[in-house]
Amino acid sequence: MVALRERRRLQRIERNSKKPFVDRLQDEVEDQQDAFLLDPGMGPMTYITADGRVLFDDRSFDDRSFDGEALREATDDEAIAALVVGAKKTGINALLELIPVQPLHSLECPACTGGRWTSLPGYQRDAEFVCFLCRGRGWADQAMLDKAAALGTWPPRET
Ligand SMILES: [Zn+2]
Repeated sequence: MVALRERRRLQRIERNSKKPFVDRLQDEVEDQQDAFLLDPGMGPMTYITADGRVLFDDRSFDDRSFDGEALREATDDEAIAALVVGAKKTGINALLELIPVQPLHSLECPACTGGRWTSLPGYQRDAEFVCFLCRGRGWADQAMLDKAAALGTWPPRET
């Protein structure tokens, strides 16, 4: 029995060593952080933990620049965008319920009209991005509008 168990253990190690790097990262983060992969993504792999934190694994994004800080907690904007993308990719719409509801002093986002997604002129018609103004909230407050105005991204320029 012991020999069988040891053999199984060695087989598991061998199997794991053959898994692609990103699959091993996913196993490690999901096990250690009690997390679920939201977005294998074009950018860093994104997870949500059982207690509602959004984590980015920068090792999966650019292994060469990895400097030891593997996992980091997303900023509010990053976390909301990750939840919006995660809901679309996984089909789990309950993820959207984790996004803060529209505060009284805010208004429906004028860039996406509350839809959370925008398309950019010049890109193919089906290419949609998480809204650049509200970052997927669907609403905007004065600070967000002021920031977009300072960056020149909103309101759109007359052509
Ligand atoms: Zn928006």
